[in-house]
Amino acid sequence: MNNSITCRTTAENTVDGNQRFDGVDLNALARDVGTPSHVYSATAVRQRISELQAALRGLDAEICFAVKANSNLAVLQLMNEAGVGADIVSIGEMQRSLKAGIPATRIVFSGVGKSEDEIAAALLAGVSRFNVESHDEFQTLQRVACAQQRIANAAVRINPDVDAQTHAKISTGKSENKFGVSIDEARRWFAGSARHSHVRLDGLHVHIGSQILSLEPYRLALDRVAGFWRELVQAGHPVNSIDVGGGLGVCYHAGTDRPMTATDYVDVIRAALAGYHGKLLLEPGRWLVAEAGLLLTRVIRVKHGASRNFLVLDAAMNDLARPSLYDAWHDIVPVHGDPGRPVTTYDIVGPVCETGDTFARARELPECAAGELLMIRATGAYGASMASTYNSRPLAAEVLLDRGRYAIVRRRQTFEDMIAGEQPAQNWQTP
Ligand SMILES: *Cc1c(COP(=O)(O)O)cnc(C)c1O
Repeated sequence: MNNSITCRTTAENTVDGNQRFDGVDLNALARDVGTPSHVYSATAVRQRISELQAALRGLDAEICFAVKANSNLAVLQLMNEAGVGADIVSIGEMQRSLKAGIPATRIVFSGVGKSEDEIAAALLAGVSRFNVESHDEFQTLQRVACAQQRIANAAVRINPDVDAQTHAKISTGKSENKFGVSIDEARRWFAGSARHSHVRLDGLHVHIGSQILSLEPYRLALDRVAGFWRELVQAGHPVNSIDVGGGLGVCYHAGTDRPMTATDYVDVIRAALAGYHGKLLLEPGRWLVAEAGLLLTRVIRVKHGASRNFLVLDAAMNDLARPSLYDAWHDIVPVHGDPGRPVTTYDIVGPVCETGDTFARARELPECAAGELLMIRATGAYGASMASTYNSRPLAAEVLLDRGRYAIVRRRQTFEDMIAGEQPAQNWQTP
C-alpha cells in the first residue's frame, strides 16, 4: 500500500470526457468563473484531515495547519471546522486564523524573524506557544512577556542537522540553515531557564523541511529530539509539548512521487517518542491541501518556435511560482480527456516576460489549440499563497468546491484592487 489517498481521488472523467473535480464539471466552472483560477476541493481537504486524525488516534495530539501553504480564509475555516489549529509565521497569518474562527489557544507561532511587535501582538492575543528560534528571540520574548505581566509558553526549535533529502530551497534542518538552534545551545537555554521569569520553556520543536518523501529523515530527526527529551527529563526539566513540524510530501508527478501514508508517518513518531505522554503537535501544510487544489488555465496560443513548440497559457509564474522557484514538476493535463488525440511535445509557459516563467519543458500532451482548458494539478499548497501581481497581472480567483457545488472564496482581483494604496507623489514630507 502506498498512498491510501491517491493523487486523483476527486478528479473523475465523465462520459463526455470532461473532468470533474469534487463533483463539479470543470468546463462549466471555467465558463462561470474564468481563468486562471485556483480551485480547491473541500472534500479532499476533509479527507486528508480525517486520515491524519485517524492515524493519531490514542495520542494527545493536535494538528496545526501551516497557514503559509494556503492562507485563504475559507480554507482556514475548513481547518477550524475539523478541529485543526494553525501554525503561523507572521501576525498577518494570526489575524487570518483568528478571523477564520481558529481560537488563539490552537495557534502556534514559528519563524526566525518574529519582530518585537509581532511577539507582543501574539502574546496579547493569547497564542498557545512560541517556537523560539534564537537566543535573541528568547530574550525578547521574556522582555515582552514581563512588560505584559504574562507567561509565554515556549518551545525551542531544534536544528537536528539532518538532511531532509528534498530541494535545497525547502530544506530547513541542516546546521547551515537559518532555522532553529543546536541541541548544545538548547541545553544551555533549559539550564538557564530559571532566569526567564515570564517564559515557560517546556517544549521542543523540530521542522526539517518540506516535500519529504522518505521516512528516514524523520526517523533521524525524531531520534535526536527524543534523545534530548529523555536527557532533559532526567535533568529535571519537564517537557510538556513536542512539536514534530510538517514536511510530508505529496504526489506532484503521478507514477513517480510516492508519498508516505499518514499511518506510516505517525508510526515513526510513535516509535521515536515511545514513553512520552505530553502533548504532541504536528504542523503539516502541503500534505493537507496540495492535492486538493488545481489551477484552471486556458491556452492563449500555440507558438511554433524554431526548435520547440510553446503552449502559452493565461496562467503564469505570478499565479504559481513553484516551477520557476524550485524547478518543481506539476502534472498538466487537458480538462477534456479525448483519448483519440495525437500526442505532441510542448514547453508550457506563461505570458510573463521572464524565461523562468515556464511550467514544464518538453512535456508530452495531447495536441492543443488556442482556448483549450488545462489543469495544473496539485497546486493547493504554495500556489495562491505565493502569488504576486508581477507584470501587473491581477491575482487569480480562488474557488472552493464541495460535492457538486462551488463558491468563490476570493474574487478575481480588479485593476482597482491591484493599484489600491498607490498614489502619485504629492504630499512631500521630511522625516
Ligand atoms: C512551512 C512550515 C511547515 C509546513 O511545511 P509543509 O512542508 O508545508 O508541511 C511547518 N512548520 C514550520 C515551522 C514551517 O515553517
